Amino acid sequence: MRPDLLNPLFAPVTALPGIAAKTERLFRRLLGRDDVPRVLDLLFHLPSGVIDRRERPKLAEVVPGRVATIMVTIDRHRAPPPGRSRAPYVVYASDETGDIALTWFKARAEVLEKLVPVGERRWVSGTVALYDGMLQMVHPDRVVAEADLAKMPAVEPVYPLTEGLSAYGVRRAVEAAIARLPALPEWQDPAFRAQSRFPGFAEALRSVHRPTVPADLSPESPAWSRLAYDEFLAGQLALMMVRARMKKAAGRATVGDGHLRDKLAAALPWRLTASQARAIADIAADLEKPERMLRLLQGDVGSGKTVVALFACAAAVEAGSQAALMAPTEILARQHLKTIAPLAEAAGLRVAILTGRERGRERTATLEKLAAGEIDVLVGTHAIFQEDVTFRDLALAVVDEQHRFGVHQRLALARKGHAVDVLVMTATPIPRTLVLTYFGDMDVSELREKPAGRQPIDTRTVALDRIDDVVAAVGRAMAEGRQVYWVCPLVEESETVDLAAAQDRFRDLSGVFGDTVGLVHGKMRGSEKDAAMARFSAAETMLLVATTVIEVGVDVPRASVMVIEHAERFGLAQLHQLRGRIGRGAEKSTCLLLYKAPLGEAAKARLATMRDTEDGFRIAEEDLRLRGEGDVLGTRQSGLPGFRVARIETHAGLLEAARKDAALILSRDPELTSERGAALRVLLYLFGRDEAMRLLRAG
Ligand code: ADP
Ligand code: MG
Repeated sequence: MRPDLLNPLFAPVTALPGIAAKTERLFRRLLGRDDVPRVLDLLFHLPSGVIDRRERPKLAEVVPGRVATIMVTIDRHRAPPPGRSRAPYVVYASDETGDIALTWFKARAEVLEKLVPVGERRWVSGTVALYDGMLQMVHPDRVVAEADLAKMPAVEPVYPLTEGLSAYGVRRAVEAAIARLPALPEWQDPAFRAQSRFPGFAEALRSVHRPTVPADLSPESPAWSRLAYDEFLAGQLALMMVRARMKKAAGRATVGDGHLRDKLAAALPWRLTASQARAIADIAADLEKPERMLRLLQGDVGSGKTVVALFACAAAVEAGSQAALMAPTEILARQHLKTIAPLAEAAGLRVAILTGRERGRERTATLEKLAAGEIDVLVGTHAIFQEDVTFRDLALAVVDEQHRFGVHQRLALARKGHAVDVLVMTATPIPRTLVLTYFGDMDVSELREKPAGRQPIDTRTVALDRIDDVVAAVGRAMAEGRQVYWVCPLVEESETVDLAAAQDRFRDLSGVFGDTVGLVHGKMRGSEKDAAMARFSAAETMLLVATTVIEVGVDVPRASVMVIEHAERFGLAQLHQLRGRIGRGAEKSTCLLLYKAPLGEAAKARLATMRDTEDGFRIAEEDLRLRGEGDVLGTRQSGLPGFRVARIETHAGLLEAARKDAALILSRDPELTSERGAALRVLLYLFGRDEAMRLLRAG
């Protein structure tokens, strides 16, 4: 149960004074919530910058273009002439060194006569400009009486906004949220806190929302670091609690005699790479141990993870059990099946598929065989989670592309069997620093080398206005028998618009190349997608126009050219995934990144990285570095996915400490029943990691 003291923070934002119920939708968007935005979400809506109002020059010293706070005497008002309401309302003011015009548009005279009465002195703060040789301040941000200077924050936080909410409205909402902060017990270790110079949690929040110097708002500040540490600690605790629970549910020793793996090895048309062999051995050793396996298999695109997974499945089957291989999309599930099927058949493994598409009698038959143990390996999508899917004896679950699934899904799969071992595969090379944040305390196997015989991909960047040259080059490649992917990007938020772009391109290219052009996109029905892929795979079509549905998994070794339109709109990781679809066969491959000029600095750097390297791990590190930069005021800050305050580029160093801290805490107090444990439960709720708490309750 959530501690009562947190209730004020879990109230909806619309319960705060001054926040109208009709703005709920706007706050929902601002705070990135799918459901009712809460007071707590406002507290974690950190400023993206500050306005520094500490500069207090005389008018003669003012530097145009900068924010200044100036003490002036109001000399006279000049209202816009009658009938010209668009003209500004100008208030002339001065100090002993010069004059300034304060201007307002669409202002009401009564309001200004009260705000800046003639003959009185006022502090005015805002950006000063030089206009027609005269100092001018358009719409001063702040105006206060001489005695009220203290009421004006010298350093003012600036918040990311969303259309429809004013800076003032958001600031006021955050202020109201801060006023609701209850006294909370300290969950951090006192010695660690003292050594890190961390303020308390509430104090840290106040400090970032009410900075007194701009440095208070730097992610490196003790206040922000404290919050990031808390977030990491909550995440690590939750992951470790899940892991502890999975391990506790007594593992089992899955020991095979090797006969199926021997057959698989004999059926392979090539040799395993050294890292594949090592990963297979590591996994087999894990399976044989009586504890639960939780291992991450990381490998660049095309590094051969599926084969490793198949050997793992074979080991489970040798021991008389079953295995499941889960993919995030239907295309990918079918791709796995295709890679696996010939080898599995050679080894005598019985494989079946279950996705949302298998229905009716076919599905019933599969489920019956599965329950009877007549299927050894089930390949599929989310459909495997469905209630009525029961295994005779599931011992191993392989989950591909885990970062698209959540922790609770990992648990759901584990519940499908008794003491299920879990192998997570990811084709997105995740920097070491991030493995922990995403996956927690897992054992890791990496496939770092490419299978022998692969050629490097020749990657080039080309401006979009040379698209005619690109089409001609693609035509020449096709004439040589090379197959081509043509990727259309996500242009708009709306899928329909994206779809239209892909369909237009399909029409254009069909106009040039005729019916050798195919199209595949996310809105197609499964069977249509498969048919389009199958035609391409069989080389009936030579050019496949696609949206990013081909991002993962699709494997057509003969395809050796890829064109990516608007490459500047993709993230590095995504470009890398896409490009991984080529360079799989023995021939030379080419990737053309079409960009719309002019490119911003960050986009330029991203594309240069793609040109320079194919090493997915390097690309991932670079991605992380570049993502930290180019934060635009007014957009949602680019934190880590799933994190609200931690910024990996700044706080990565804290992660390891949080991990150790969490391990120590749970070794001493696994149920969080001590006094500190109670405080840590509060922490878990604050960062939305309370699903781990439910596990504690379940025992
Ligand atoms: P990943 O899932 O890591 O992207 P796959 O397992 O799909 O990669 O393998 C990509 C392709 O490489 C498949 O066609 C697979 O049969 C082939 N392959 C896997 N391992 C090797 C190897 N050691 N030598 C040559 N080809 C391999
Ligand atoms: Mg694969």
